[in-house]
Amino acid sequence: PPPVYVLGVRVDRLTQRQVLASLEQILSSAQRSSTPLPCQQIVTVNPEFVMAAQRDSLFCACINQAALVMADGIGIVLAARYLRQPTPERVTGIDTLSELATLCARQGYRMFLLGAAPGVAEIAGERLQEMAPGLQIAGTYAGSPALDEEQAILERVRTARADVLCVAYGAPAQDLWIYRNLSRLPVALAMGVGGSFDFLAG
Ligand code: UDP
Repeated sequence: PPPVYVLGVRVDRLTQRQVLASLEQILSSAQRSSTPLPCQQIVTVNPEFVMAAQRDSLFCACINQAALVMADGIGIVLAARYLRQPTPERVTGIDTLSELATLCARQGYRMFLLGAAPGVAEIAGERLQEMAPGLQIAGTYAGSPALDEEQAILERVRTARADVLCVAYGAPAQDLWIYRNLSRLPVALAMGVGGSFDFLAG
């Protein structure tokens, strides 16, 4: 089905399983391609995103152009139902992150974990490796979403030869960071993960 627009913000009407299939397809297309394909952005939309997008047209544009927009939370599922364009289920960021880790472990894709407080991404990476044995963590780095750090971060990701970039700078900073760097990001797929590293690190 076509996406539903909640107050102008796109939400794809997909099950967790369909999301995973799309992620798998993005990664395998990138792997098969002889030239680097543009980075695909993944966004998980919760009600706070929708409210923030009302005030921030760049954030709204960022979400609406993404390769995949997931309904993160029951509030979005209820809004879609109210609009009579229901989405089958909620697909949370943390669930997607763990599914993605399993997919990466299985297919040999490398994950880079960017953001959160120093040391947190390292622990989150270890937790993901426990959940998805064999997962390769290409690198971790706290850094910050500040403009003057962008070049150095892109260089780190490039050197790490990652396939997937997970960015934990909170919304909207993380999603806008990915959006403005899309054409320069040397990964197949990039996703904002909010507080997921903190959650995993406990
Ligand atoms: N964060 C960061 N740098 C910043 C701002 C935030 O690394 O400049 C991290 C913060 O440490 C936390 C995550 O971004 O790990 C944001 O989590 P939060 O739960 O606030 O995000 P949400 O899930 O609400 O988008």
